[in-house]
Amino acid sequence: MTHACKMLSAALVAMTMATLSGCQSTTASGAVGADRQQLLLVSSQQLDQMAAQAYNKLQAESAKKGTLNTDPALTRRVRAIASRITPQTRVFRADAPGWKWEVNTITSDELNAFCMPGGKIMFYSGLVKQLSLSDDEIAIVMGHEISHALREHSREQVSQAIAAQTAIGVGAALLGLGNGSASLANTAYDVLVAPSFSRVDENEADRIGLELSARAGYDPRTGITLWQKMLKASQGGRPPEFLSTHPAEASRIQQIEALLPTVMPLYEAARKGR
Ligand SMILES: [Zn+2]
Repeated sequence: MTHACKMLSAALVAMTMATLSGCQSTTASGAVGADRQQLLLVSSQQLDQMAAQAYNKLQAESAKKGTLNTDPALTRRVRAIASRITPQTRVFRADAPGWKWEVNTITSDELNAFCMPGGKIMFYSGLVKQLSLSDDEIAIVMGHEISHALREHSREQVSQAIAAQTAIGVGAALLGLGNGSASLANTAYDVLVAPSFSRVDENEADRIGLELSARAGYDPRTGITLWQKMLKASQGGRPPEFLSTHPAEASRIQQIEALLPTVMPLYEAARKGR
């Protein structure tokens, strides 16, 4: 139980709301062992709905600008990779293969990619083209982004923001009443539009993502070349958008190297099965 969870439990007991339990893990641990307990005070449905709206808005704006799925070869490529990775999500959570997954591309110089809560994936052409990403490297990025959604890191951030408010605020937000729900909507919007993932989140997404892509038959060793490219790009004049939320650090590459003995057998088994 984390510190935040303990504090919340105490608050709930004080409020005689002991039936509301906010601490759980969104995923099973998989081979890489990611099962940290999470503070979750809003429902997945609430956040997924907000994410779907934000995703539709982004698509509509891009279509208007003439940048949505304008590179059919790229769109086909990322969709093919997604179609191999998303079935593997069942290792971590049984419901995920049945999510309403969507995969689209935006033609832009931005070096960016994300997966919003509920499985709404967007790849920006700049990331793939400017870093000359191979299919395996795209799969590593996609696995990482999907893992943020599986772990519901955005939902956790919204929950932490609520817990940081007063106990009365927590109660109101839980019950969807008054100021609590208004500030919840604002917080959720901020988190969806500009997420800032913690090091703990990043580490979990790297570990789960590496297992997902390995199980889908993509070479986990390319996690190293991918992040080397990211590191190099971050030293250029204009650091990639992607890196503002996913800092490229040498320690990340070391952690990926340390995981290879765990995920390489999964990759080799997947390749034999193809
Ligand atoms: Zn990340």
